[in-house]
Formats: sequence, structure tokens, C-alpha cells
Amino acid sequence: MSKPVGPIPNGYEALDGELAIGGRKASDLVESTGKTPLFVYSRAHFDTRMAQLRAVLPSRIGVNYAIKANPHADVLAHMEPLVDGFDIASSGELKLTLDAGIDPARVSFAGPGKRDDELEPAIAAGVTLNCESEGEAARALAISERLGKRARMAIRVNPDFELKGSGMKMGGGAKPFGVDAERVPDLARDIIAKGADWRGLHIFTGSQTLSSDAIIEAQFNVLNLASELACEIGALLPKLNMGGGFGIPYFPNDTALDLDAVGAALRGMVENLPVELENTELCLELGRYLVGEAGVYLCRVIDRMVSRGVTYLE
Ligand SMILES: *Cc1c(COP(=O)(O)O)cnc(C)c1O
Repeated sequence: MSKPVGPIPNGYEALDGELAIGGRKASDLVESTGKTPLFVYSRAHFDTRMAQLRAVLPSRIGVNYAIKANPHADVLAHMEPLVDGFDIASSGELKLTLDAGIDPARVSFAGPGKRDDELEPAIAAGVTLNCESEGEAARALAISERLGKRARMAIRVNPDFELKGSGMKMGGGAKPFGVDAERVPDLARDIIAKGADWRGLHIFTGSQTLSSDAIIEAQFNVLNLASELACEIGALLPKLNMGGGFGIPYFPNDTALDLDAVGAALRGMVENLPVELENTELCLELGRYLVGEAGVYLCRVIDRMVSRGVTYLE
């Protein structure tokens, strides 16, 4: 199914010939707020998308929400009971999750270039750090010692493969995201030896992919790499954050991701999990796929311009 174009986006209804969101006409929503532009989000959309995911994913694989896709307090409150965990990328996002009453044990903090004044509140709160480098891990361990608080630490891996066809690749070759896979075992053993609460690995291979084949291949590679690394580390992985990269259609010719195909492949992989991962908690982390199609941007047409035969609405 390719992205529908026209006044009624995919999954929305028409009421009196007009776009309706959550059962209310666009014109009513604009009238009740008194101004444009306006973002309107549909709770029913969030629920439907999560239900679609839960229906096809094996129960063994959890779903985390990467909140940078939409960190609005009301969105976080709505997602809190629906998802298994939350991924943050800054201390501002840490504050938003804490303000939303989300249990810090369910939150993981990724992102290169974390400052000490971001690491400290995260460690104090008990959030899992997805360490992006040896340097960051050393700073986190020092802060943890100073605070007298054991840090929950995982390692973000820069794998030696990438998510094909993705809008943004976060793996393969030289990348500023995560520790090169070949250096991960040494760092993991060091973190464990220094007394951190070892939380396992985070492998995020890319974003915004509409190809189920590419996602399936990447997830297969992620599971294999994680089991190899667990072997080399010589310690089991309490948790493996498998990334995701599920895309949503942006352009008229884009075709929606075949979620059934991804779900079926993941069910097969879970049935044949490498022995090293048998007791590992598994999760995907998704951002735009969970919330990106749940919102509509309403704006008013101020002017209608014609330029060399093409009409522009301004
Ligand atoms: C941005 C980001 C995500 C979410 O990306 P989407 O493509 O929106 O699903 C997940 N994990 C990490 C580490 C990210 O930086």
C-alpha cells in the first residue's frame, strides 16, 4: 500500500466531507483553539499502532519508545502503560521521563557526547547508560564512585554491518555512534570488573527503513553479533536492545513497511535464538513508527499563487 495523498491521511476518517481527528472535525478543532497552525494527535492512533506491533511481535521481544520522536508530556503519559521501556538522548529528555512518573529502571540513555552534568543525574536516578565510548564509560564509572551509587551500564555497539536502505545509517565502518564491535569485549569486561551493574548491549543499525527485508537482515545480524560478543565477553547479557529503524511513508511513492513480514521473521528468530541469548531480555526501540503518523498539522491557507501553470497554496 503506497502512501495515500489527498485531504484524508492513512488511518483517519472524514466527517461531513472533512478530515476528522479523534472523532472531531478539523474545523471544530481549529475553532476551539482559536488559532492556527495547530498540531493534533490521536490517542486512538497510538493505541492502534501498539496493538498492531504486539499482534505480530513475539511476546519475547519488548517495545521501547525512543522519545525524541515526540517527548510531549501528554504523549509520554499515554505511552507509559503501552510500552516496555523508554529511550532518551539528553538530560532534558531524562527530566521529561522523570516528570512523567516513568520508572527510571525502564529508561535507557543513548547518544554520543554525554556531558558529566548529564551522566550524573542519570546515574543518580538509576537510568541505564548506553555507553558510546571508552571515555564516556570511564567518566560514568568515576561519577558513580563519587556518588556512591552503582551505575547501570550497557554498551552501544557500532556493528560491522548496517541497515540497508535506511535514511540514516548508524553502523558499519567508521561511525560516531557506539564502540566498534571488536573493542566491545574488553570494555565490557572492564566495566564488569569495576563493579558496574552490567546491563548488556545496545545495537542500533539505522533509521527510517521501509524495506522489511533490510530490517529482517539487520535483526538477524544483530542477534548473531550479540551472541558472539556475549561469548567473547564471557558474561551473559541481561538485556539486548536490538534497535529497530522501522520507517513510515513520507513521500507519495513511499510504500508502508510490511510489518507482518518483519513480525514473522522475528518470531522465527526467537524460536531459534542462539544459546547465549536464551535468558537475555530483548527489546526493539522505535520512535517515529510509534507516533509519527498519529499527528496532523493543521494550517490555514493564506494565499493561492500561480507560477507558470503550477498552483501553490501558501
Ligand atoms: C532516534 C533514535 C531512535 C528512534 O529512531 P526512529 O527511526 O524514529 O525509530 C532509536 N534509537 C536511537 C539510539 C536513536 O538515536
